[in-house]
Amino acid sequence: MENYSLVKIIGEGSFGRALLVQCKNSEQKCVLKEIQLPLNSKSENTRREAVLLSKMSHANIVAFRESFEDGNLLCIVMEYCSGGDLLQRIQKQQKEQFLVDDILKWFAQMCAGAKHIHDKRVLHRDLKSKNIFLTENGTIKLGDFGSACVLNNSKAFAQTYVGTPYYVAPEIWDNQPYNNKSDVWSLGCVLYELCTLQHPFQASSWKRLILKVCRGSYPPLPRHLPYEVHYLLKHMFKTNPKDRPSLHTILTSHRVSKLLRHHL
Ligand code: ADP
Ligand code: MG
Repeated sequence: MENYSLVKIIGEGSFGRALLVQCKNSEQKCVLKEIQLPLNSKSENTRREAVLLSKMSHANIVAFRESFEDGNLLCIVMEYCSGGDLLQRIQKQQKEQFLVDDILKWFAQMCAGAKHIHDKRVLHRDLKSKNIFLTENGTIKLGDFGSACVLNNSKAFAQTYVGTPYYVAPEIWDNQPYNNKSDVWSLGCVLYELCTLQHPFQASSWKRLILKVCRGSYPPLPRHLPYEVHYLLKHMFKTNPKDRPSLHTILTSHRVSKLLRHHL
């Protein structure tokens, strides 16, 4: 802790806090995320966030600096994304739609970051606009690895995990294991949010929400969007995960790949 001085608190949740800090031996500002370590039970799950983030190295993933423990706090120091999170950015729009070029650029960057995560055999499991950050110059950075797990680790695979309800894929409600295509579904939700400033699946109760998700029925996209976006979302929202494209497919061989790569 003595290497950092507090600038301000930027996020507070059940886990603890996200602090903007100044590094004392450089000019740099960083984010220090404090997470309460469980006192008696297993703290390995908590430490997993730092371990998995530290394995990532990609232009579209928040850069890991270091992690350390201070009493019963786990501290993860990472790159500061001064553009804030994408949810804040969406809420700032009021009713004005984003430019198609911005949507495609952000989405292509999200896919590139998420593909890197999957290539490392890790699942993020909580992709949503609040966990996707923007830098000063508008580059996307995927963050918050607090729900991430290693793929094919039989224990992590078996555990049923439910993230933020709006972004949860149908197979999770059906008690199927979380897989790479469940992250693809969540990114589809973020893409839809960028296109409409609304969640694709919304309802007045959990039961109705889950029903809509499991049917894959969402309000149509505005017509001015390129047909590739309509086509892509239709496929990302296939209710059977096997029918959904992987991130590799989206970026390399899907009908939209050329358009996306053009924006990378
Ligand atoms: P939680 O586990 O509580 O969701 P997050 O890692 O998502 O923790 O951080 C909470 C909030 O703090 C984020 O939604 C974002 O607004 C802000 N935040 C976290 N990390 C950063 C970062 N590296 N740069 C900018 N803002 C961040
Ligand atoms: Mg978060």
